[in-house]
Amino acid sequence: MAVWIDGKALAAGIKAQVREEAAALPLRPVLAVVLVGEDPASQIYVRGKERDCAECGIRSLAHRLPADTRQEDLMALIQALNNDPAADGILVQLPLPRGLDQRPVLEAIRPDKDVDCFHPLNVGKMTLGREGFRPCTPAGVMEMLKAYDIPVQGKRCVVIGRSSLVGQPLASLLTQADGTVTLCHSRTENLAEHTRQADILVSAVGRPGLVTGDMVKEGAAVIDVAINRGEDGKLRGDVDFEAVEKKASFITPVPGGVGPMTRAMLMRSVLYAARLHQGQAV
Ligand code: NAP
Repeated sequence: MAVWIDGKALAAGIKAQVREEAAALPLRPVLAVVLVGEDPASQIYVRGKERDCAECGIRSLAHRLPADTRQEDLMALIQALNNDPAADGILVQLPLPRGLDQRPVLEAIRPDKDVDCFHPLNVGKMTLGREGFRPCTPAGVMEMLKAYDIPVQGKRCVVIGRSSLVGQPLASLLTQADGTVTLCHSRTENLAEHTRQADILVSAVGRPGLVTGDMVKEGAAVIDVAINRGEDGKLRGDVDFEAVEKKASFITPVPGGVGPMTRAMLMRSVLYAARLHQGQAV
């Protein structure tokens, strides 16, 4: 039976540490959160981030804009936040409503305030293994592996899903940690042949039941990034949890796995930005 990786407990520890370090800074870190429109899921996520900030002693400044906001007005807000010395981090809640072009908005965020690590400069630095921001979900996965002493070096790591948000950066981070990485996606032939080789298997697709028991090697560590809401309203990942937990050595539950870690890593990124802006060692 697999050990459950307790993302909630790990995240609580990281947030407590952020709180302590934030309190030691001359100025309180500030996160500007931009929410456009009324999407209920986005509103829940933003409230969650505001709660995390409060827990960590970070000030959150919410900018809630109507769904019919024009591109140029959103760009103007980003410029204003870029120029506002009080804002350490800028987070634009995604997805943006239809009609707004996400890419120019994310690329307009000043790289030293880009706590989600979406700006091409930060993505490049991350890919090169340079000091800088790390994308929150992949960083959270790496932190989980470290916390549970799951070795990556020399191990076969299979990541399913190649989005620029999760799969691709995670493949980069695992490679930098000396894993032997295979990145799978919707065009991958014989997915199960790849996944059965994995010592570490990460699924980041968004299809409940995609990873079945027979796709997992005995003793593998299985990390389920996905969040799927079923018709019953319950959250599930991609992994057939009951079957896979019998074979795996470690497994992340959904909810309570990668989700809380993503949020905790965001808080760490805001702390990092505040340190940069206050001339402190990072
Ligand atoms: P995404 O942009 O939709 O990417 C999904 C990826 O899965 C794509 O690369 C796609 O391949 C691949 N894929 C689709 N069907 C597949 C199949 N049958 N077999 C293999 N690969 C397949 O999604 P995302 O933003 O990366 O998010 C993935 C999941 O993680 C979602 O459930 C999302 O809600 C969740 N998520 C969770 C957190 C968290 O904090 N826990 C954070 C972010 C995202 P192609 O590239 O070929 O289309």
